[in-house]
Amino acid sequence: MYADRINSLPPYLFATIDRARQDAIKKGVDVINLSIGDPDMPTPPHIVEAMRKSVGNPARQRYPSYEGMLSFRAAAAKWYKKTMNIDLDPESEVLTLIGSKEGIAHIPLAFLNPGDVSLVPDPGYPVYNIGSILADGKPFKMPLLEVNDFLPDLDAIPSDAAKKAKLMFLNYPNNPTSATATEKFFEEVVDFAIENDILVIHDNAYSEMTYDGYKAPSFLSTGGARDVGIEMHSLSKTYNMTGWRLGFAVGNRDILAGLGKVKTNVDSGAFEAVQEAGIAALSGKQDCVDDMNRIYKERRDALIAGLNELGLDVKPPRATFYVWVKVKGSSLDFTKMLLEKSGIVATPGVGFGEYGEGYIRFALTQSVERIQEAVERMHRNSFEYFGHWSNKWM
Ligand SMILES: *Cc1c(COP(=O)(O)O)cnc(C)c1O
Repeated sequence: MYADRINSLPPYLFATIDRARQDAIKKGVDVINLSIGDPDMPTPPHIVEAMRKSVGNPARQRYPSYEGMLSFRAAAAKWYKKTMNIDLDPESEVLTLIGSKEGIAHIPLAFLNPGDVSLVPDPGYPVYNIGSILADGKPFKMPLLEVNDFLPDLDAIPSDAAKKAKLMFLNYPNNPTSATATEKFFEEVVDFAIENDILVIHDNAYSEMTYDGYKAPSFLSTGGARDVGIEMHSLSKTYNMTGWRLGFAVGNRDILAGLGKVKTNVDSGAFEAVQEAGIAALSGKQDCVDDMNRIYKERRDALIAGLNELGLDVKPPRATFYVWVKVKGSSLDFTKMLLEKSGIVATPGVGFGEYGEGYIRFALTQSVERIQEAVERMHRNSFEYFGHWSNKWM
């Protein structure tokens, strides 16, 4: 019944974990869910209020423009200037997206011919890989290894894969490893892209979720980056707006025009009332972002302290709301054990690709009290985990 491209999609491991979670809840277990990358805190009130005002305006209820409201794109350009010190032309260098996932999933349709290679990080946000498969492209996995600080080793990409590649996806600060990129790495990426005629798509969904004074660089601030690439942004994590579906892409105007062409033919743009809420988010006071980062930092510190007390050598991430922890053996078995023994849900690393095997991901999307409770449960059952944590008592 289904097309080959659907049949060829990898199995969705997260569904297995979710079923186990629901079974545990049915059995009456007080489950602490540290598996979801979806902010638990509400959208800030001034953003909700902007939507409330806009939604009753008949002009906002009609088909939106394909490329997004110019006022939203101008707000995005201004935000970019303020946060990244990069100048953008709102008309040609900013494109509104119905969430950045939409842009990531559509971009291979604009640039891959059947059999063309797209370079995707592994472990990685699954859409880079799946979007490439849906466009009949051939994803080539770039392993993100701890020895390389979870950056892809560009020299390790075989030259025939590099020559056949049209696209490269990158994401720093990174989901799931929480790794960050150096400016030097981005310079190497630009050189590699020029040499091999590759377009770079940098997913910067976590640029604002940073701690300890760390500032995540924009790929576009690298010399030459605008000639080879674009950057994707999302309001989902920065402003707790995952349900609203709003993001934007910036950078090289020809790449954006290709993406825009696909979008014009498959969707009709983001609801304008949502874009007006987005303007309120991007142009309003940014205290809400600082407040959220303070809360995530407190949660991060509680989880890291607990894991360190268990004898694990885990360092506090300086960006994202994820903690990536090494385990021994199967990550799926480990997360099952964590749920059975302690009622804690984490995500098995293998769900993000084969090189995610041997790790689990905790998301800091529960209150500090619940995270402390999770830590206490792990301590109580620590003998159960003995020998399963990878770097314990070595
Ligand atoms: C959450 C997330 C996004 C955001 O997706 P939206 O479609 O904008 O909600 C994009 N990339 C990564 C890596 C993410 O984790």
